[in-house]
Amino acid sequence: MSITQLAILGGAPAFEMPLHVGRPNIGDRQQFMASVGQILDNRWLTNFGPFVGQFERELCRFLGVKHCLTVCNATIGLEIAARALGLAGEVIVPAFTFIATAHSLHWQGITPVFCDIDPATHTIDPAQVEHLITPRTTGIVGVHLWGRPCDIEALQEIAARRKLKLLFDAAHAFGCSYRGRMIGNFGDAEVFSFHATKFFNTFEGGAIVTNDDDLARHANIIRDFGFTGYDRVVEVGTNGKMTEVCAAMGLTNLRSLDDFVRINRRNYHAYRRELDALPGFHLIHYDESERGNFQYMAVEVDAQEAGIGRDDLIKVLHAEKVLARRYFWPGCHRMEPYRTLYPDAAATLPRTEAVADRILVLPTGSAVSEEDIETVCGILRVAVANAAEVRQRITSHG
Ligand SMILES: *Cc1c(COP(=O)(O)O)cnc(C)c1O
Repeated sequence: MSITQLAILGGAPAFEMPLHVGRPNIGDRQQFMASVGQILDNRWLTNFGPFVGQFERELCRFLGVKHCLTVCNATIGLEIAARALGLAGEVIVPAFTFIATAHSLHWQGITPVFCDIDPATHTIDPAQVEHLITPRTTGIVGVHLWGRPCDIEALQEIAARRKLKLLFDAAHAFGCSYRGRMIGNFGDAEVFSFHATKFFNTFEGGAIVTNDDDLARHANIIRDFGFTGYDRVVEVGTNGKMTEVCAAMGLTNLRSLDDFVRINRRNYHAYRRELDALPGFHLIHYDESERGNFQYMAVEVDAQEAGIGRDDLIKVLHAEKVLARRYFWPGCHRMEPYRTLYPDAAATLPRTEAVADRILVLPTGSAVSEEDIETVCGILRVAVANAAEVRQRITSHG
């Protein structure tokens, strides 16, 4: 449909039902329901049952990785991986990421040291990492933001030379590759999230993957309260187990993975077609010579060029029932407890600050059609064409 009058200026909303960011992708319902029936028949609901076993084997095969430990969510997965790696003292992390990257460290008494990003890739800047290393530093956590791999080679070089552990928060990067090799094979370990908002989900869930036998063995013990046998606990552990029903969802969704990627890619190109010519709208770029999942439709909005800023566009879109989002704004360093702990951090993170102020995330996934995208982009075009009126409306009405 074509937009004549923006809702924020008094028109009717373009969408009747809200269009969300991060609507779950769901595979074959019948297969999933049959699996649930089987789980109930088995009376084996959790504690490393047959569905978890099969899911872990299939993940290993898909990723080409030696060990896969499914977990109840990626936050616990990061905590377990950090502990199994013996991280302590200070660990360098990007400030531009989901808060769980930092919390998973701080939760266990490790100090997250915030590093700035490369503005071209939005991932941790290896040159800055080098400057932040102190005698207390034990590791680096890279985040493959938007599913685009970090500068893995540079981080591996620094970690090896400075004798640091290297962990990747791969929450966004399931199904992505780096130089032809699947994400999951890099650093000491990598952690995926299978949360409902991620393009591949198990309701809640995640996985720690590694090619290191000793690390896998240790993480496996920590995931199960520290048990090594029925009545034997050897260290403090947690409960990181994935349930059978979550594994069944994962097995179901794995069958549809290629469809999910195909739809995301189609949507990404639809957005590109619609927005590339619009001044001030810079869509993130995905390297299509690698495997990708295209799950985030992130746009950097240049307020000068567009004549209207990211936050005003969000108000315009919300009025149309397009629930676009800011992501990772205002940066981990501006959220508690880090804000209080490091009141001066912003001065050292100028690129994180700039990118966090510009990123607009638009809806994609299997719940979003190409027609929806044409409508969303039509709204943006009309908003840009009427920027002055929109801005004035927002300043006078809030
Ligand atoms: C979603 C996400 C997490 C946390 O994953 P959960 O499975 O929800 O615990 C961690 N890091 C990043 C970058 C994420 O986007």
